[in-house]
Amino acid sequence: MYTDLNGKVAVVTGASKGIGKAIALRLAQEHMKLVFNYHSDQNGAQEAVDQIRENGGDAVAVQADVSKEEDVNKLVKTAVEEFGDMDLFINNAGMEKETPTHKLALEDWKRVIDVNLTGTFLGTKAALNYFLDHKREGNIINMSSVHQLISWPHFADYAASKGGSKLFTETVAKEYAEQGIRVNGIAPGAINTPINAKKFADPELYAQTAELVPMNRIGKPEEVAAAAAWLASTESSYVTGETIYVDGGMKLYPEFKEGRG
Ligand code: NAD
Repeated sequence: MYTDLNGKVAVVTGASKGIGKAIALRLAQEHMKLVFNYHSDQNGAQEAVDQIRENGGDAVAVQADVSKEEDVNKLVKTAVEEFGDMDLFINNAGMEKETPTHKLALEDWKRVIDVNLTGTFLGTKAALNYFLDHKREGNIINMSSVHQLISWPHFADYAASKGGSKLFTETVAKEYAEQGIRVNGIAPGAINTPINAKKFADPELYAQTAELVPMNRIGKPEEVAAAAAWLASTESSYVTGETIYVDGGMKLYPEFKEGRG
């Protein structure tokens, strides 16, 4: 538990399921007040909000498309109206779709960049403006991926968005460090969430992916949420512009295991 998080306010985008939901639930366990953003799955977000409220916590579900500036601004506005302040903004929402690059439609490319990269920019911009207007310190966490480092055929749009997210995070961290605003990334490896539930339900496909992970298993959303809680807390107070990989060692070139190569 991170006692400094008690009573603080967080916005988590894409929190109706998967990693975003696990993060929001973990932060609620830390007694933070939560804005759960959802895009289309209102039930997923509302269920979690109800669960938190039943346990005596504070949370609210808010619809927003992270690729739209007015929607993203609404998330900060709601946090302040409902809970009086905002301490932390987590840009988690993301999407992917497998397509060979020569067949990738411009509109599909644009959608992935809009949600994953522009969404991160818009959330960061809204949070920065709030922190600067109130002359206060602040904390921003951007959900990236091991594919900010590892190229990924058939997912060029996704890899480009996450590579962009890495340098965006590092640039903004440097730009606002003096104001006490920390900006960090988390790069999950293969995590069992709805984005790839179908793949990991198939034992053969599960094993194929697990082979790419030195720890030889797929990760849990809660394991990513633990990294987010640490970055949210003052335990990480001297960390900015960093990416924490939560990937079971996936970025360590597992093909070279046992002296191969
Ligand atoms: P998921 O599909 O389970 O959840 C994605 C969330 O983003 C959903 O709640 C969805 O509604 C939301 N979303 C999508 N488009 C949106 C939009 N326009 N506006 C607002 N919300 C929107 O996926 P996940 O695995 O939980 O992924 C969460 C983040 O983690 C993503 O950024 C993803 O790229 C990243 N990630 C996931 C993995 C993995 O293996 N699951 C690995 C690396 C990185």
